[in-house]
Amino acid sequence: FSARVAALRETGPKGGVAVVTLHDVTAIRRAEQMRADFVANASHELRTPLSSLLGFIETLQGPAKEDAEARDRFLDIMLEQAKRMSALVEDLLSLSRIELDEHTPPTERADLRKVIDRVVGALELKAREKDMSIEVDTPDRGSLTVVGDEDQLTQVLQNLVDNAIKYGRAGTPIRVVAQPADRSTGRPSRRARRGAAVSVIDQGEGIPREHIPRLTERFYRVDKARSRQLGGTGLGLAIVKHIVNRHRGQLEIDSTPGQETRFTVYLPTGEPESSDQAAE
Ligand code: ADP
Repeated sequence: FSARVAALRETGPKGGVAVVTLHDVTAIRRAEQMRADFVANASHELRTPLSSLLGFIETLQGPAKEDAEARDRFLDIMLEQAKRMSALVEDLLSLSRIELDEHTPPTERADLRKVIDRVVGALELKAREKDMSIEVDTPDRGSLTVVGDEDQLTQVLQNLVDNAIKYGRAGTPIRVVAQPADRSTGRPSRRARRGAAVSVIDQGEGIPREHIPRLTERFYRVDKARSRQLGGTGLGLAIVKHIVNRHRGQLEIDSTPGQETRFTVYLPTGEPESSDQAAE
């Protein structure tokens, strides 16, 4: 803390009143440090594929100029590196856009069934390449409508299913389960809200317990090399967290390494609970 005496008022020959302002310097320093780390990490992540691209361009202009076979191989690698940079820039832009409106919750309604259909449609082929299927489990009846931005919720689910494909074991199914859910605190409250939950479950290597609390930090990865090799930017779960925060929802991560990993997003529907339920 830093303290500053803003005003001093004499109240008598021996007494006085001081107005002291306290600033939580540690919190400000920490935020500054985090921002500096983020810029350093982002620059480093961009610099790696960029150096590789520069190296290959120079080789293609020089030693490999006449070597058709090397040229094709290098161009493939260069395309991969350029794609990696492009994915990173897209994720950085998404993150900054989401941060800007994080404090303005959405007001429109979104149908989770539609969101799930969009994501399954977009990723089914990628799953099949790893001999994986995406199984959807939604209740036959009942609404899965929440207060939310359909495009942002699609982005959330797309990141979670994409991770399930990347980190799930080849040949195993991925499950997407959506259902009405209640995330009230358990205490009676008139302000408790009904909600819906969507889980993405994979059977893969899983996440050791000690990493779970840090997974939504930008660029935090359990295994950096592996994530990069799979085309990860390290920003997917940070984007998920910011969107879920904007929706006043919650993200829960459970993992039993080698068995099952489950990411669940709870979202409010905006409907008040009936008074008897709220008083339970
Ligand atoms: P990345 O682009 O590296 O996948 P994310 O932010 O999406 O970045 O995820 C951060 C890290 O969390 C990943 O690098 C990986 O270590 C871990 N992770 C995310 N989803 C899963 C999953 N379904 N199974 C195992 N590990 C996961």
